[in-house]
Amino acid sequence: AKVSGRNQYQFFSKDMNAKARSRLDLEARLRRALANEEFAVFYQPKVRAADSRIVGAEALVRWLDPDKGLVSPGEFIPVAEETGLIEPIGAWVLRRSCQQTKGWQEDGLMPVKVSVNVSPRQFRSRTLLEMVTGILAETGLDPRWLELEITESMLMNDVEAAVRKMTALRDLGLGLSIDDFGTGYSSLSYLGRFPITTLKIDRAFISDVDTNPKTAEIARAIIGLSRGLNLEVVAEGAEVENHVTFLRENGCDTVQGYYYSRPVPADQFEQMLAVGVLH
Ligand code: C2E
Ligand code: CA
Ligand code: CA
Ligand code: CA
Repeated sequence: AKVSGRNQYQFFSKDMNAKARSRLDLEARLRRALANEEFAVFYQPKVRAADSRIVGAEALVRWLDPDKGLVSPGEFIPVAEETGLIEPIGAWVLRRSCQQTKGWQEDGLMPVKVSVNVSPRQFRSRTLLEMVTGILAETGLDPRWLELEITESMLMNDVEAAVRKMTALRDLGLGLSIDDFGTGYSSLSYLGRFPITTLKIDRAFISDVDTNPKTAEIARAIIGLSRGLNLEVVAEGAEVENHVTFLRENGCDTVQGYYYSRPVPADQFEQMLAVGVLH
């Protein structure tokens, strides 16, 4: 029994070593990626539901690994978050997004709002405000064209501190969106306290609004709640025409999803902006 126990232990520990090694490997490759600027920002258009005009875009990071090709954020953001690399990566994404958005405006394209994701670790960082202020100054982007997307779960640990931080960000003149709304654990009563500008309905609610009457009712309630609180409401994950029709008929301002476009490289988004409307 002793021997087999030891074998099991060895097996387990080898397995753990393999995991730790691959994580260390990913961390090292992420550091190199940062140094070599292997990241790119893709943009997914947000359109006004009423007339399908492009009003903004969500900035979504991509990693162009020279060995492995295009790596999606789901594969490296969690490790970046654990190791703290999310702070320099996130700052890079914000800088790039602001630069490109400002560039399009200087080229005379219709101005649109860019929404940048902020991770829990970035939100907790004591230098967040300084980082955002610095990048706005450096790029010259008017803050009203910037929105930060944060999730409910980041706000609930210390509500007072979150309110203070959000107020300071809002005072810069930018917008704040609650991402994946409806999937977190927050109490609705807090919504009135957070100085937010936008609610972003999670795609879990959108995916079956056309087939599940209860989900449809929840989506309607979130849209109504946003209107009552004077917030912009954005739906993510609209994939088919029925989703868009539902959102339009129920007064959702802004729609984002594969129905209109997948996230695309900057030059492709620029071409979309030149046209201005998506179908
Ligand atoms: P998210 O913030 O909820 O972003 C939306 C995700 O849904 C994106 O995946 C987008 O490509 C995908 N999506 C958009 N429309 C549709 C649709 O119609 N159907 C479906 N099935 N999916 C759709 P992506 O780009 O792989 O990003 C995944 C997550 O990674 C993001 O979820 C966000 O949490 C994180 N992420 C991406 N970029 C950044 C970043 O720059 N910083 C941070 N901190 N997180 C990021
Ligand atoms: Ca987001
Ligand atoms: Ca989301
Ligand atoms: Ca999500």
